[in-house]
Amino acid sequence: MNDNKIKCMYFDHRFTGKPQGKQCGWVQKSLTQTDITIENLADALCHGASFKPGVLVGGNKAENWYQQQLFGLDFDNGVMIEDTYNKVISLGITPCFMYTTFSHKEEHHKFRMIFCNDTVITDGNVRDRLQATLMGIIGGIDEVCFNRDRLFFGGKGKVVLHPDFEARINAESIIEKYWNDDFEQYISNAKPKSKKRNSPAASSKSKDKGDTNKEYQPYENLNVKAIKEHDVEYLRKVLAHEPIEFENKNEFWDYIYSELDIAELIDIDDPRSFCCVLHDDRNPSANIFTTQNGVQKYRCCSENLTLNIKQLIEMLGNFKSEYKAIQFIMDIYNLCRA
Ligand SMILES: [Zn+2]
Repeated sequence: MNDNKIKCMYFDHRFTGKPQGKQCGWVQKSLTQTDITIENLADALCHGASFKPGVLVGGNKAENWYQQQLFGLDFDNGVMIEDTYNKVISLGITPCFMYTTFSHKEEHHKFRMIFCNDTVITDGNVRDRLQATLMGIIGGIDEVCFNRDRLFFGGKGKVVLHPDFEARINAESIIEKYWNDDFEQYISNAKPKSKKRNSPAASSKSKDKGDTNKEYQPYENLNVKAIKEHDVEYLRKVLAHEPIEFENKNEFWDYIYSELDIAELIDIDDPRSFCCVLHDDRNPSANIFTTQNGVQKYRCCSENLTLNIKQLIEMLGNFKSEYKAIQFIMDIYNLCRA
């Protein structure tokens, strides 16, 4: 019981409402690797704390994933708490606890279900398969919760639902019993990035041409292509941005200009110097810098252009109106204004 502590990324600040705008960035920066009992975690989440089930080392992104024992599922499409609980129990999979999120209502249930594996998982492929299997067999889950760097905010429910803190699942037996090739979609959807990924081992059975075809010679920046083609769906997957709501315009624009990462958006490895994505550039003439006010800017020296992220998207996407460009930004980054 005493050494029942589990590692996760955790931030103990107790929010009383869903974190908004800049608060989201603050949470991301404040999460630290923490050993905590499941009981304490459950109680903290019911009182507004935040956590990431995946343990990340050296950064906050999916590529920094190191190990994981806790698994979370996010339900917000109208399924009911009791029905969902009964379903997992009938499948022989027992969660450690459930809790309602900030936006939960009696007439529209929004909640999370947290599982604990019997061992710490250090193999990313096993982690992905388990997450995908849980999502696939239970259903009704927000797909964004697949990601290795997924952040879960707490809620204000105060009461832990269906606590069974000692309950453990076994990744191997769940995958063996329930894996279905259709679940592969969750994994491949979350694994975009036009860059060469560290190991192709992840997709032993991958049927996509994308992975195997290395003949794509002239390096094609898929993010830039997607902006040009207004491909919202692709960019939503690549950016995998947490949904954020803004209460007012200032907060909204502040976030867009200072928090959104231009280098990530246009998939640039070294923002200090790269070939401009706006013109045919053989010698790197572009860079990304941050002004004293904290605004990120895209700079092309050969065309003498300095653009903020909105202007860059307007230009790349050749949008007919500013309104359409803003709508596009909101769509790809999952942002909404109250
Ligand atoms: Zn240029």
